[in-house]
Amino acid sequence: MSDLQNTDAPALPGIVVTGASGRMGQMLVRLVADHPEVRLAGALERPGHAWLGRDVGEAMGGAPLGVTVRDDAVAVIAQAQAVIDFTTPAATVAFAELTAQARAVHVIGTTGLEQPHLDCLRAAARHAPIIRAGNMSQGVNLLLGLTRKVAAALGTDWDIEVVEAHHRHKVDAPSGTALMLGEAAAEGRGTRLAELRTAAREGITGPRREGSIGFAAIRGGDVVGEHDVIFAGAGERIVLRHLATDRAIFARGAIRAAIWGQDKGPGEYDMQDVLGLS
Ligand code: NAP
Repeated sequence: MSDLQNTDAPALPGIVVTGASGRMGQMLVRLVADHPEVRLAGALERPGHAWLGRDVGEAMGGAPLGVTVRDDAVAVIAQAQAVIDFTTPAATVAFAELTAQARAVHVIGTTGLEQPHLDCLRAAARHAPIIRAGNMSQGVNLLLGLTRKVAAALGTDWDIEVVEAHHRHKVDAPSGTALMLGEAAAEGRGTRLAELRTAAREGITGPRREGSIGFAAIRGGDVVGEHDVIFAGAGERIVLRHLATDRAIFARGAIRAAIWGQDKGPGEYDMQDVLGLS
C-alpha cells in the first residue's frame, strides 16, 4: 500500500481495478493489494453502486486497504499506470478511451466483445498498450503455445481432440478456451479452425474425417475448468493438460500483463506476447 512504501524506492506501478465488486474484481483487488511489484491505485464501480464511497477492503468484508470505491473514472484512471478490467463489453470500451487518454496500460479480461467493440479497442490502442485475452491464465496460454507447436510438428495422421470439463452452471459448450485451443491447433496446421472443426458427436457419425479437430464437453459439480488437447496417433498418444482449481489464476495473469506492459508502446497485445510465445 502506498503509505507503507519506501520513499527512496521507485514508485510501484499503480493499478486501478474496474468492476471492483465483481467476482474477478474482488479477486483482483486482493491480489493487487498483496502483490510486491504493484500497488492498488483505485477501485471503480458504476454510478449508483452500493459500494461507492466505501473503503474497498471493508466493502469486501476484510481489513481496510486505504482505497475508496469511486465512479469518477476519468480522475481515478488519470492517476494510474495500468487499468485491469474484467467487466462488460460496453464498460470496457468506455474504459479503453479513458485509459488511452491517460497513456496507461489497459489489461482486458472481459469476454463477449463483438466487432464494434474491437474496432473501438483498436482505435484506443493507437495511443497506449492494450493487452487482451479471453483466458488470462498463464498456464492456459502456455498450453496454447504448446498446442500450436505440437500440431505443427505432427502430420494429419495424428487426430486432434479437445476435451473440456466445467461446473454444472456453465451454459455454453465448447468453452471459449477449448475453442482457442482448437484454433491454436489449426494455426499449427497452417489453417483456421472453421475449416477443421467437428461438432459434438452422437449416433452414427461415420468414421473420423482425417485432419479434423473434435470437441467434447463434460459438465458437473464445481469443476473450475479442465482442458485436454489429445494428439492420437497410431500406437501412441500425447495429452497436453491444464487443470484450473482457482479463479485467482486469471487475476495473476492479468497482474503479470500489467507489469509487462509498463515499458511497451501503443498497440494491441495478448498473453502470448506477455509470455514471450508469439
Ligand atoms: P461479474 O461478477 O458480473 O463482475 C462484473 C463487474 O463489472 C460487476 O461488479 C459490475 O457491476 C461491474 N461493471 C459493469 N459495468 C460497469 C461500469 N460501467 N463501471 C464499473 N463497473 C462496471 O463478472 P465476473 O465473473 O467478474 O466476469 C467479468 C468478465 O470477465 C466477464 O466478461 C467474464 O467472462 C470475464 N472473465 C474473463 C476471464 C479471462 O481470463 N479473460 C476470466 C474470468 C472472467 P454491477 O454488478 O453493479 O453491474
